[in-house]
Amino acid sequence: MTPTNCLFCKITRGEIPADTVYQDEFLLVFRDLNPQAPQHFLIVPRKHIATTLDIADTDMELIGHIHRVASKVAFELGFAESGFRIVNNCKGDGGQTVWHLHFHLLAGRQLNWPPG
Ligand code: AMP
Ligand code: ZN
Repeated sequence: MTPTNCLFCKITRGEIPADTVYQDEFLLVFRDLNPQAPQHFLIVPRKHIATTLDIADTDMELIGHIHRVASKVAFELGFAESGFRIVNNCKGDGGQTVWHLHFHLLAGRQLNWPPG
């Protein structure tokens, strides 16, 4: 998978539409097409990083920023108080289907633990 044919690269470049609720120079947050909770967003860096295993030392600031944006979105969309879950699926056993790093931000219902 290269940035040319990667689904999330195409979304971050604006070539494929998404229901975006937040964006800046580093990342986009948009609604998941197949929501698993009343509020289900994907936090997607503009940089093509295939999986969590491919995060480099130079990406530290980006990873921190992702979590700051998660809390910003939670406050702005009104689920900071009730709570939420951030999930990253990594490779096969993790259930990753899109090989461009992303974090699911789920909210709006009581989420079960352990996950399926
Ligand atoms: P994962 O299975 O962790 O790799 O997550 C990929 C997520 O991307 C799934 O929850 C899909 O529903 C979601 N998804 C796939 N295509 C799109 C799209 N075009 N727009 C928004 N979400 C998408
Ligand atoms: Zn990509």
